[in-house]
Amino acid sequence: MTSKELRKKYLKFFKEKNHAIISSASLIPENDPTVLFTTAGMHPLVPFLMGEKHPAGKRLVDVQKCIRTGDIDEVGDAWHLTFFEMLGNWSLGDYWKKESIEWSYEFLTGVLKINPEKIAVTVFKGDKDAPEDEESFKVWKKLGVKKIYKYGKKDNWWGPAGATGPCGPDTEIFYITDKKACGKNCEPSCSCGKYVEIWNNVFMEYYKNEKGKFEKAKQRNVDTGMGLERVIATLNGLSSVYEIETIKPIIEKIEKLSGQKYHSADYITIQKFTDTTLALSPEIKRRSMRVIADHLRTATFILGDERSVAPSNLDQGYVLRRLIRRAVRFGKQLGINGLFTSQIAETVINIMKEAYPELQKNRKFILSELNTEEEKFTQTLVGGLKRFTLTSVLAEQTGKKYINGKEIFNLFQTYGLPFEMSIEEIQSRLMKKLNKTELDNLKKEFEDEMNKHQELSRAGAEKKFKGGLADASDETRKLHTATHLLHAALRKIIGNHVAQKGSNITPERLRFDFSHPEKMTDEQIKKTETMVNEWIIENLKIKCVDMKQKEAEKKGVIGLFKDKYGEVVKVYSIGDISSEMCGGPHSEQTGDLGKFKIIKEESVSAGIRRIKAILEK
Ligand code: ATP
Ligand code: MG
Repeated sequence: MTSKELRKKYLKFFKEKNHAIISSASLIPENDPTVLFTTAGMHPLVPFLMGEKHPAGKRLVDVQKCIRTGDIDEVGDAWHLTFFEMLGNWSLGDYWKKESIEWSYEFLTGVLKINPEKIAVTVFKGDKDAPEDEESFKVWKKLGVKKIYKYGKKDNWWGPAGATGPCGPDTEIFYITDKKACGKNCEPSCSCGKYVEIWNNVFMEYYKNEKGKFEKAKQRNVDTGMGLERVIATLNGLSSVYEIETIKPIIEKIEKLSGQKYHSADYITIQKFTDTTLALSPEIKRRSMRVIADHLRTATFILGDERSVAPSNLDQGYVLRRLIRRAVRFGKQLGINGLFTSQIAETVINIMKEAYPELQKNRKFILSELNTEEEKFTQTLVGGLKRFTLTSVLAEQTGKKYINGKEIFNLFQTYGLPFEMSIEEIQSRLMKKLNKTELDNLKKEFEDEMNKHQELSRAGAEKKFKGGLADASDETRKLHTATHLLHAALRKIIGNHVAQKGSNITPERLRFDFSHPEKMTDEQIKKTETMVNEWIIENLKIKCVDMKQKEAEKKGVIGLFKDKYGEVVKVYSIGDISSEMCGGPHSEQTGDLGKFKIIKEESVSAGIRRIKAILEK
């Protein structure tokens, strides 16, 4: 079965069970400062899981593009990718565990014809906060599933996403591969690869309150997610996601560019561009190929997204930069010469453009950004090597044999010079190999430094998280409404070419990115502020109506229109000055907003400006 057939079969199956098909949301979340990318199908649906009414109804199904940078260290194993497609179906306060589990089983064994013997499942075993999920256990038992395992919160519980919020037990479905079990006690919770998790059904039946107690939730939701690439691999008896029909051609392209064979078991010797030779084991070679394929596939999707982002030193742009650079590094390690990232992106676009037309639309941008970034990084590497020499000479002058792990980390941090490259350079200066103790010491110093750095950035990330997933406080509501007013004012004052390129709201301020080729003048900024404040004083009513995308587009509503499935969307309008497709939530009238003030206008990247603004009480 191909990915295309699986997407179609999945949507059809749930459509027949009265689910409305909705389009994949952008990879860049709108109005959610807590995460950089859409990590699961449920992510764009959070407001509706919290109780807001979805215009398409209570039963939804989709195929969502996802990015999980948290899985980057797993990439290269058989089952993890940083970009993957998630097939998901939802019940928003509608059907419950029995239907959800039965339909999952029917789809896997009836439609996909997976042998029931190849399926194992896990359910929540209960703890001090919540009882065992007996209901799920019974449904599985009745369906005849023999391998049912019970685990605790670590394995079979989801949420809440922040400190409080909806949460509940889940039941996970595993495919039992033909791989030899790692031991007698090999179970789904084991990560040896014998059991591959393919589908996860989450039952949000609790609400964790401020006191840390788990109350029964007002609205019970079902949220499921199944990994498309994993299912295709298992259905076709493949041993990894890198062999499925949408990823294999990328590996083949890398084989061509590098002259290496993915499947061959030979050690290979590579003349590196630093003039050292390097022997690679078949495992390292295969892993390098997988990393290149994965990272450039993800980079292509970020650059090609409806809210496309360019490489930068900030947020999504920074992640993108790291992915491209890591791919380039692994490419050099494989012995690929010359610019290659855009050639691989071409392959990705050609394979995926039918399902994701935005890639074709942004083809030029994707290819040129990759070329630019790759060139820049190659220069950076050259700069890094120069700096390496300087640092080494200084170390040698003070009587040291070679630079220490902290200095290696600084070269990595500032110049992107990889650890392995510094080691090679040290060895070539010494004209001999480092022994194991010397290597281990450098590695430890390097890692200690890295950990220190990661702790700092993790602290930052956690702080971000506290903003709360889909925070719907009064402050954010008001700022969200102010964002629509700002957008409308900008279009009136500087022109209709202004289009939203990003938005990020915290309880303190709004941030709005938009297309405009030059810096705004002080006068334009003043006028914009005044216009928004006049609308606030007029106390305009904010209305929300559901309408078909086609109709909204015709009426000149602002938004990213996809409409693959004739979907109904929410349109928020403010008086007769603004009309935008949007998930909400908003204030009821503009008079609630307070005084609008622009605190900053700056450039984000070529052709994109950023405004930060606040509402004064
Ligand atoms: P794992 O433990 O294998 O990393 P997970 O528990 O993180 O999986 P979920 O968050 O439950 O996975 O996501 C739902 C489904 O999405 C999984 O059952 C799996 O099929 C798929 N999936 C999750 N992470 C990845 C990934 N990095 N690459 C490919 N598919 C994935
Ligand atoms: Mg995971």
